[in-house]
Amino acid sequence: MKQRKYFDVHGVVGRHSKPPERFPWLPQDLLDDMRAVRVHGAAVSSAESADYSFVAGDAKLRETIQAQPRLYGVATLPPTAAFEAGDPDYCIKLLDAGFRGVKMMPSKFSCGHDPRNMEQIAALLTGRGLPLFYPREEGFEGLAALLDAYPGLNIILLGVSWGDNRQLFPLLERCPGLHFEYSKNQANDILELTKEHFGIERALFGTGWPMASMGALKALTEYAVLSEREKDLVAHGNACRLLRIDPAALALYDDTQCEFDSIAMAADRGAPMPVPVLDAHTHMAPAEHKTVSGLMMLRSSCESITPKLDRLGVEAIVTAPWEGIATDGMAGNAQTVFAAEKYPGRYYGWNTCNINYEEDLAQWRGWFERYPDVFVGIKPYWPYQKFSLHDARLRPWLDYADARRLPLLLHTTSDAILDEAEGLCPRYPGITFLLAHAGSDYRNAAHCVRVARACPNTVLELTYTSVTRGMIEYLVGEVGAERVLYGSDLPMRDPAPQLGWVAYARIPEEDKAKILGGNIRRVMGRQLTMNNEQ
Ligand SMILES: [Zn+2]
Repeated sequence: MKQRKYFDVHGVVGRHSKPPERFPWLPQDLLDDMRAVRVHGAAVSSAESADYSFVAGDAKLRETIQAQPRLYGVATLPPTAAFEAGDPDYCIKLLDAGFRGVKMMPSKFSCGHDPRNMEQIAALLTGRGLPLFYPREEGFEGLAALLDAYPGLNIILLGVSWGDNRQLFPLLERCPGLHFEYSKNQANDILELTKEHFGIERALFGTGWPMASMGALKALTEYAVLSEREKDLVAHGNACRLLRIDPAALALYDDTQCEFDSIAMAADRGAPMPVPVLDAHTHMAPAEHKTVSGLMMLRSSCESITPKLDRLGVEAIVTAPWEGIATDGMAGNAQTVFAAEKYPGRYYGWNTCNINYEEDLAQWRGWFERYPDVFVGIKPYWPYQKFSLHDARLRPWLDYADARRLPLLLHTTSDAILDEAEGLCPRYPGITFLLAHAGSDYRNAAHCVRVARACPNTVLELTYTSVTRGMIEYLVGEVGAERVLYGSDLPMRDPAPQLGWVAYARIPEEDKAKILGGNIRRVMGRQLTMNNEQ
């Protein structure tokens, strides 16, 4: 069984002043997670260095990395580190002790973004051939200034999001020293795009441990259209080159102790899922529109999406084309029909309607009547179209869905909308409400769980960039696997991490099968059964 070596360039261990709830922080917890999904090494910085004292935090981290051969230290330093520590060789000694780079946190350390202040540290790192780690929260202007000031310095950008690509791509183009880890940059085809335009040596596997599922993020590499050599570079080769680590030092795990079921095993090989998968939450755009939404969103057509579904082993998706939820509901419905006719059995539709336009309100019903096998539910998209769920213009749409037992996909990342939903669910018992993005974070998840307990006609759909660590296990534990659904938001995000999130979860294999396909089939089946009864 092939075991690809993975090296995580973005982990944080140690105490915080205010720790994120429900997340572990001990190095041993990290090592346990790494072993569970087979990540072979990790570069970690210390939360105590940021929240308490960089001297004390990094001293503790130094002991950790010396005791744990799979962990490598990243020092967290202000430009004045040597001065404050009272030792001109302070930074040199850290690197001599095995630290593999320096993380800067200008906001946290109140030291500003003037790149000239970084001269000593930059010279030291350049001389050793080691990288500077730059958190995305520090902003692109500071990053650009550093890149311009120190063209010979390698910089690894941490936590850059897919929503940042209109800022990231010009910098990648201009500055060969810039690299990024992809834990939040799950743009559709991000690795393929990076390879084609900037070189695959610029992208690195990273997770932001403890926040995200490590397995989910492995899946982005495994399902990418890259050669085995290129996947190895993203998984560990680029990190080993930049951090000067011999890949041979990353010991393989004992295969006889591997706890993967057949679903996790398939994900670990980048193979199609061995169980039927139906993606309940997707979008789409016509090929000729090229890029859509306020963010860069490429390769969004059904012609681009379908081969990806084949690679992941996704039988079918339920889609709400972006134009339909953004501006023109009827154009969206037409795009769904186009895809459904071009790829029979692969595309189902969330009926879309911009309720701010009379003509949309007059026409949404016709799409159900003409294409009863294509449109399986409705998606009222309040975040763009700005309405309350109690808006009178929605009522005929809701009544129609209620009478025909259709599901409704509801974007939920605010307490206000969940409160509205809780009021609405009992009034429309025929509708199954899919509470979308239930897995975004534990606060939202807990609220979704409360609504699910109060309203039996709800199920929880997962998708979010965060691929929150432990979330699938939490939701299954709270509401049961029958009420949790896989959705990916493709092609806004690449679907692979969302699939890996479920595939590597520590839940029974039969629960994964329900989440990946069984449950949405049941929800859609309520309507199909009724069609047959009529
Ligand atoms: Zn969505």
